[in-house]
Amino acid sequence: MTQSLVDLVEPTPYQRKTNPGELRGLYRKEGEATRRNSARQGLWLAVGAYLSFSVIDLLLLPDVALHVIAARFAIGITVLVALEIVYHTDTGTEWLDLTCATAIVAGYVGWLAVAVTTHYTENLSYFMVFGSTFMLGANLFFRFRFLLSVLTSSIILLAFFASLYLFPVSMPYQIALGSFYVSCFVFTSYVNWKLNRERYNVFLNALEAKIQHGEATERGKALLRLSRTDPLTGLENRRAIDEKLRENWSNWQRYGKGFVALLVDVDFFKRFNDYYGHQEGDRCLVRVADALNVMIAGKGGSIGRYGGEEFIALAPFKDERGVAALAEDIRSTVEKLAILHSHRRDGIPVVTVSVGASFTRNQTGTKLEKIIHEADRALYLAKAHGRNCARLFDPNDPESSDESENIAALLKIALEQNLVSMVYQPIQGISSGRIEGAEALMRLKMLDGTSVPPSLFIPVAERVGAILGLGRWAIRKVCEDLLVFDRVEIASVNVSPIQLKAPGFAAAVAAILGETGIAGNRLALEITEGLEMEMHSDVLRCIGDLKLLGVNIWLDDFGTGFAGLSWLRLIDFDTVKIDRSFLHDCDSEKGLAMLQDIVGLLRNRGLKILVEGVENEEQLELMRQLRIDQIQGYHVGRPVPLETFDAGPQNRRYRQDRLAKGVRKSA
Ligand code: C2E
Ligand code: CA
Ligand code: CA
Repeated sequence: MTQSLVDLVEPTPYQRKTNPGELRGLYRKEGEATRRNSARQGLWLAVGAYLSFSVIDLLLLPDVALHVIAARFAIGITVLVALEIVYHTDTGTEWLDLTCATAIVAGYVGWLAVAVTTHYTENLSYFMVFGSTFMLGANLFFRFRFLLSVLTSSIILLAFFASLYLFPVSMPYQIALGSFYVSCFVFTSYVNWKLNRERYNVFLNALEAKIQHGEATERGKALLRLSRTDPLTGLENRRAIDEKLRENWSNWQRYGKGFVALLVDVDFFKRFNDYYGHQEGDRCLVRVADALNVMIAGKGGSIGRYGGEEFIALAPFKDERGVAALAEDIRSTVEKLAILHSHRRDGIPVVTVSVGASFTRNQTGTKLEKIIHEADRALYLAKAHGRNCARLFDPNDPESSDESENIAALLKIALEQNLVSMVYQPIQGISSGRIEGAEALMRLKMLDGTSVPPSLFIPVAERVGAILGLGRWAIRKVCEDLLVFDRVEIASVNVSPIQLKAPGFAAAVAAILGETGIAGNRLALEITEGLEMEMHSDVLRCIGDLKLLGVNIWLDDFGTGFAGLSWLRLIDFDTVKIDRSFLHDCDSEKGLAMLQDIVGLLRNRGLKILVEGVENEEQLELMRQLRIDQIQGYHVGRPVPLETFDAGPQNRRYRQDRLAKGVRKSA
């Protein structure tokens, strides 16, 4: 290929970017092995044909035939030997082409040199026509570079003209055959040039297509990587991890290869963000992600970011102890990072995580979501147990089993099917001895009439959101059952933090009070400091709104969670209910001292105190000694339906008083 040839070729976009010398180098290298093989095969074929023409030598040039044939064989064998040597030594294709070109020239000139000595000049003049096949060979049969082809065919052309001087032929013959040779030279050279140009074009197009394909593949790969990566931590994102989860799941279903799913949640992360700022929050997540990534990769698993401050790790399942150890490793890895978090509610000064784990078991069933749901349950329990701990899903835990799915379904139809009801438990004043109020407790029964304990259905209702509807219904019911008819002065209803967080809760309470004509101060809402410990600003706002309505806010189960104390600071509670476990622990000296301390603390803050779970006379006596304000428990009365609820004679008098007041007012 010459410079001019490259210039003639229409430049492709790729060529414009690349230097032509480089391109030519690439072109020559391209398909070198096949070109070497085809050159070798071509020469063997050509030599075969060349030697077979010995028969024509015998027929047309009998006088010199033997010499001519000897020359043919000598040349044929020599060029084949040369060819094989060049082929087998690792020289470039150019040398092979040069050997073939030399073979063509040698074949023609060698034969011609002996043949011109014949006396059969007329025969030779016919035979000379075949000389053109050598030109065809140089230009079309082999794949020489243009220059080599032209050079070879030029030598043949010159040799032909030179031979015309060596044997006598007529002028017309010279003109006819001479012009035939020249036109043969011109045409075959032209075709060779065209062919070379076409081949180069094809090469360029193929090269460009290949490059474009490569670029597209790279771009595609980069996009895919991007769409599967969490931009902050560089871990796999939810989409990628979901895919991996499905893969793990199908391996489990098909080949029984078990796996573990671990949900990891950074404790009190919202507080961390609020206090240290979002940039620091991001840095915290990156450090946690990096540390967990290294740790879990070392155990043959992988981790991704599930969203927010939640991560999910997947690892092969070996045994249950292994799962527990892995979950604990995750927890301790983060704790060891010692990222400062001095504003947690529980006094731990560093960032920690809660871990919930679940693994494939025989009962796992056929739904992939189940294992995540189970890990989620375990995570919930880990948080409920004070965070910075790991929990394994326990299939024997009724709250986690299929039963909770049934309950969730039941809750959807519970109100319209009349499956929910309220029972009321009296609250007694110690100094008055009177029933001063009642706590409303919700009951749920199944379609066949069996009752479901609140410890089972309340958490499910909270999880699926049914608590919102049920909670509103409960408040209305309590107002209608107890307050409208003045059965008690004050009635308390349990509300869960989910309700307080939901927008419009205070407005809904206001509407119920308005519709039933009840003053806000006759209703109390009990908030548990149990599970949802983080005090949301929405919750505080809602409580403020409720207080504006005059509604009492009571703190339930005081002492069971560790948020209680900080809650006392944040919220102005009207009454604090001490959890019954403290009273039941009073058999021991230590337990008694504990209750006394709690009572002292609350009293110092000027709070009204109610103790739950008073079951016998001695406990009642203790309450008197401790000068508790109010009590509740089986000793006073069990929770009962409205029909059997009796607030006692004192309260009946209270009702009559209020009724009389009402009559006087209307008179
Ligand atoms: P809680 O608010 O602490 O309710 C008191 C629980 O203690 C009730 O159980 C009651 O039956 C029981 N109890 C009362 N006196 C005694 C006693 O002297 N000894 C013993 N051992 N137990 C006593 P219940 O009705 O099973 O309710 C369990 C929990 O379910 C409640 O605990 C409350 O947290 C939740 N709950 C009940 N109703 C509702 C509701 O309408 N809304 C919400 N959000 N939660 C509710
Ligand atoms: Ca309660
Ligand atoms: Ca309670």
